[in-house]
Amino acid sequence: MTNDTPYLFYQSRNPRPFLDHGEGIYLFDESGKRYIDGSSGAMVSNIGHSNPRVLAKMKAQMDKATFGYRLHFRTHPSEDLAAKTVAMCPKGLDRVFFVSGGSEAVESAVKLARQYALATGQGGRYKVISRFPSYHGCTFGALDLTGYEPLRAPFAPMMEGMPKITAPTTYLDRDNLTEDERGIRYAELLRERIEEAGPDTVLAFLMEPVGGASTGALVAPDSYYQRTREICDEYGVLLIYDEVMTGAGRTGTFLAAEHWGITPDIVALSKGFGAGYAPLGAIVASSRLVEPVLDAGGFQHGFTYAGNPLACAAGLAVLEELEDQNIIENAALMGALLKRRLEDLMAHFPFIGDVRGKGLLLAFELVADRGTMRPLAKELNAYTRLVEIAYDLGLIIYSRRTRGGLEGDHFLICPPLIITEPQIDELMELLEASLTRLADEIMP
Ligand code: PLP
Repeated sequence: MTNDTPYLFYQSRNPRPFLDHGEGIYLFDESGKRYIDGSSGAMVSNIGHSNPRVLAKMKAQMDKATFGYRLHFRTHPSEDLAAKTVAMCPKGLDRVFFVSGGSEAVESAVKLARQYALATGQGGRYKVISRFPSYHGCTFGALDLTGYEPLRAPFAPMMEGMPKITAPTTYLDRDNLTEDERGIRYAELLRERIEEAGPDTVLAFLMEPVGGASTGALVAPDSYYQRTREICDEYGVLLIYDEVMTGAGRTGTFLAAEHWGITPDIVALSKGFGAGYAPLGAIVASSRLVEPVLDAGGFQHGFTYAGNPLACAAGLAVLEELEDQNIIENAALMGALLKRRLEDLMAHFPFIGDVRGKGLLLAFELVADRGTMRPLAKELNAYTRLVEIAYDLGLIIYSRRTRGGLEGDHFLICPPLIITEPQIDELMELLEASLTRLADEIMP
């Protein structure tokens, strides 16, 4: 691979044009070609591109101050954003700490949990149980919590290995259990792992309420969410929801946790929280956790750029937009519509094995055999081919080949939450054309 630019991230293996500008659900390259941003980048651009009201509020802040270090000044954008975030979260989540991205949010959540344990005489608790498959970020700590071997293996050993349990990949299970029973069975894996690890050593359980890139929008049975909360309470284990992808309205509620009436102890937010207008993330926690940490001398943690006024002004403008334009309601409505339209594709394309997700965090999976969910042969490279074909036609989608210990091709369809019904028609037209071309290529 040769690069013609010093920018390390550019990969000539996967050449892409220069971006010119964005507008709503569309992006335009320098040649003027238009793309539907069918994945909101990496599930980031929830309110669409170049929103004029957000840009105006950011510009107003730029004219005042772009940075004021938090040890030197309080700022209105950071405090207003904290208040707005608390107002939009379920009751009981009332303290906010800012960061600049998802990995930082996950690490901050774990560090807050750890300091809470220390402050309350539970210093022996340090293990964080997470799930396989999962994705929690790319810093060493967050990567060690991630359940996806190709990303972890090149860097092992990292921190001491954290215990993992299998995420409920229930759509693959061929048994006689009801959905409810399956949810309980998977949740009880948490109890087993806590017992095995030693209950007094377990600090927290970390999970994505709806798996993102890791599982392709996998939603667990309802009973899973209730039972995992109960088990955490029973063992005094903190429940951390990684809502980096699901938060800020993506699934049709501000937090995905609201679908199941769950109040996690700590929530990690990023992606749609800054919605592509600023690198921004946050953790939201309950005072019950935060007060003992403050009493013990304060949270010994913080990043230089955290809570800077420009990023916070952007985040505040994004949350105001979500509310003023009823964007979360639109995500629920358009998500239901788009999911039905994706399910309709199954009648035409027998290699679509599953359609799943919540709100506008949707995915479909390609298989060789719908009955057994046997994946397509890896050599077909379906997950890269379909993305390339769609890109060529002007539709951006996001794909992964992974499925727990198994292999499989899934595609996330996650347009900005402002998408309209006619725009869903446009997206589906391009997706159908892409699948038809893929079928011609890979099907004998
Ligand atoms: N957690 C989840 C669920 C994610 O999907 C991601 C990113 O894809 C992260 C954490 C890491 O976020 P970032 O890439 O902003 O560090």
